[in-house]
Amino acid sequence: MPKLNVAIVGAGIGGLAAAACLRRVGIDVTVYEQARQFARVGAGIQQSPNSFRVMRALGLESKLREIAFQPTSALNRQSDTGELLWERAMGAASEAKYGAPYLVLHRGDLHAILASAVPDESIQRGRKLAGLSQTGAIVRLDFADGSHAEADAVIGADGVHSVVRETLFGAEQPEFTGRVAYRTVFPAALLNGLAIDDQAKWWGPDRHIVMYYTNPQRSELYFVTSTPEPYFTLESWSTTGDMDQLRHAYRGFHPNVRAVLAAAPSAHKWALVVRDPLPHWTQGNVALLGDACHPMTPYMAQGAGTSIEDAAILSRCLDGVDRDGVAAALLRYEATRKPRTSQIQTLSRANDMNRFKAANEMVYGYDAWAEPLA
Ligand SMILES: Cc1cc2nc3c(=O)[nH]c(=O)nc-3n(C[C@H](O)[C@H](O)[C@H](O)COP(=O)(O)OP(=O)(O)OC[C@H]3O[C@@H](n4cnc5c(N)ncnc54)[C@H](O)[C@@H]3O)c2cc1C
Repeated sequence: MPKLNVAIVGAGIGGLAAAACLRRVGIDVTVYEQARQFARVGAGIQQSPNSFRVMRALGLESKLREIAFQPTSALNRQSDTGELLWERAMGAASEAKYGAPYLVLHRGDLHAILASAVPDESIQRGRKLAGLSQTGAIVRLDFADGSHAEADAVIGADGVHSVVRETLFGAEQPEFTGRVAYRTVFPAALLNGLAIDDQAKWWGPDRHIVMYYTNPQRSELYFVTSTPEPYFTLESWSTTGDMDQLRHAYRGFHPNVRAVLAAAPSAHKWALVVRDPLPHWTQGNVALLGDACHPMTPYMAQGAGTSIEDAAILSRCLDGVDRDGVAAALLRYEATRKPRTSQIQTLSRANDMNRFKAANEMVYGYDAWAEPLA
């Protein structure tokens, strides 16, 4: 049986995870990425046990453990008094329960670890997809530089502004929440010895801030907010925010929060947008993956985790499939994944998971390698 040749659009978290998972089952993969080089954008990322199980099967466990931080617990605090509302176990107790750790790290480090699982020659940088067309079982990819390529299947892992999604299903109508996420990673030395929690979410009446260290040395600190700012609508990894405006928005918070915001030199800013689950992810031999098909608010820290789960299920659905079976395999992937990601998209929108002691089993207990396929 000739090997399948799969093109992945986007070398983000989901695209690289998909490339690594598909290669694991012997499928030839080429990843097309618009950026000319990867940047280490200032953001932290939480990796829960459901995502870690996929990374473990890719042989990335020791690299992750070496570079990531494993807090003992995530604290939920009242914004002004600092009163402890409740504590979610994240250390040894959580690891024993789920058979996998809950880790936090720099987003750039997670990206680099995933990239290490894909040969560099399989990633073509500076290739911005402009359009797609399907003739029989062949998919043609057209790039902005006028070049083109062909593949047996195309996976659109091109993020929230997905060109693949727009080509298949038309323009979307996102709903702006009137809120923004300010986020940054900065040297913890700038705190001048102030002792803060390893990981905490500070709950105000209409806004919150999450903070954690991103490495075992506790030398880098990350924060991300959800801040009312009705007129800002840009979803971008590169836009920066005004620090005085940010500090003013948290002036009523506990002194530790104010001290962290005073110490941070700069922050990026990302408009928080909600989208309903898409009716379909697949058309013929083209399917979507990650934020391209199930973008969600960051409140449950599951956007990247669910994209990594997608990658594992996709590889199980395409494993051993010949060219004639690609379209059915992609529909099976969609049918297996969509109920779960739609549920998490909806839950995440409500931002309740950590406010109340909601059961985490459904999210963290999921094993993409053992889940029955639809
Ligand atoms: C503030 C914030 C905090 C978050 N925190 C967490 C967290 O703690 N835990 C977690 O699991 N998730 C978190 N997420 C979500 C997570 O970052 C995303 O869900 C995840 O990055 C999705 O991966 P992806 O591969 O689908 O998209 P991306 O990582 O965005 O990658 C898309 C890639 O496609 C490329 N691309 C786009 N268009 C084209 C084109 N036309 N041609 C070629 N390439 C293209 C882009 O350059 C990019 O490399 C957070 C998100 C935000 C905004």
